[in-house]
Amino acid sequence: MSTLRTEVERDLVLERKETVAEGVVLLTLSDAEGRPLPEWQPGAHVDLILRADLVRQYSLCGDPGDRSRLQVAVLREPKSRGGSSYVHDELSEGESVRIRGPRNNFPLVKAKRYLFIAGGIGITPILPMVAAVDARGADWRLVYGGRTRASMAFGETLQRAYGDRVSLRPQDEYGLLDLPSLLGKPQRRTAVYSCGPETAARGGRIRLREVVERSPARGALRREEGRHRPAAHDLRGRARPVRPDAAGL
Ligand SMILES: Cc1cc2nc3c(=O)[nH]c(=O)nc-3n(C[C@H](O)[C@H](O)[C@H](O)COP(=O)(O)OP(=O)(O)OC[C@H]3O[C@@H](n4cnc5c(N)ncnc54)[C@H](O)[C@@H]3O)c2cc1C
Repeated sequence: MSTLRTEVERDLVLERKETVAEGVVLLTLSDAEGRPLPEWQPGAHVDLILRADLVRQYSLCGDPGDRSRLQVAVLREPKSRGGSSYVHDELSEGESVRIRGPRNNFPLVKAKRYLFIAGGIGITPILPMVAAVDARGADWRLVYGGRTRASMAFGETLQRAYGDRVSLRPQDEYGLLDLPSLLGKPQRRTAVYSCGPETAARGGRIRLREVVERSPARGALRREEGRHRPAAHDLRGRARPVRPDAAGL
C-alpha cells in the first residue's frame, strides 16, 4: 500500500495541546478554513516541519475516519536535538504547524489474529490499528509496556475500551517486557506488530529486532516471504518485515 499520491505539505493550526501522560503531549491539528485533511490509514505518520532545519516524524494516533483533525502524541526526549523539546516548550495552541504526508511504512495487513506489542511512545501507531481490527471483529491482543503507569499514554483509555485484550505492563510493577516469551510459539494466521524503543526489550540490551530474529516466530515469519510486505519499525525508523503468519501467544 502506498500513500505517496496523497502526500501533501500544508499548514495546519494547533487546535489543542494537552498532556496525556508524564512527558507526553497530544497535539490536535486542524485546517484553519475547515477543509478536509488528507486520508490516512493506521500505521501512517506525518512529518512535522517545526522549522526549516527541524523536521521530525510522528505517528498519527487519532481516528482515520475523522478528516477534520490529525492527532500526534509526542514524548519529550531528554537528550533532544530540538524536535520534541520544540513541541513541548515552544509550540502553543493557535499556532501554525506545517505538516508533510501522511505516508505509511507500517501498514496494517488483514489477518485472523493480531498480537500488538508496544513500548512507551511506540503505542501511537498501534492505537488506530487496534481500533481498526476491533471494529473488524478480529481476534487481537495488545501488550503495552512502559516505565510507569503514569508515563504510559492512553493506557487507561485502552483498558477501559477493550478490557482483557489489553495488558498494561509498567516496568516498575512487572519488569521489562519479556519479548521472546510474548512472541512464544509460532501460530498460523497471526500478524505481529511491535513498536517501541529498544529499551522495551528484556534487560534493555536486546533490540526488538534481534528478539524477533531469535524467537521461534522466525520460521513462520519467513514462510510468508513474498506474499506481504509490511514493515514494523521502531521509533528510530529501523524496519523489519512483519508477516500475517507470524507468532502469537
Ligand atoms: C516513523 C516514525 C514515527 C515516529 N512516531 C513518533 C511518535 O508518535 N511520538 C514520538 O514521540 N516520537 C515519534 N518518533 C520519533 C520522533 O520522530 C523524534 O525522533 C523524537 O521526537 C525525538 O526527536 P528529538 O529531536 O527531540 O530528539 P533527537 O535529537 O532526534 O534525539 C533522539 C535520540 O537520539 C540520540 N542522538 C542524538 N544525536 C545523535 C546522533 N548524532 N547519533 C545517534 N543518536 C543521536 C539522542 O541522544 C536521543 O536519545 C517517530 C519516528 C519515526 C521515524
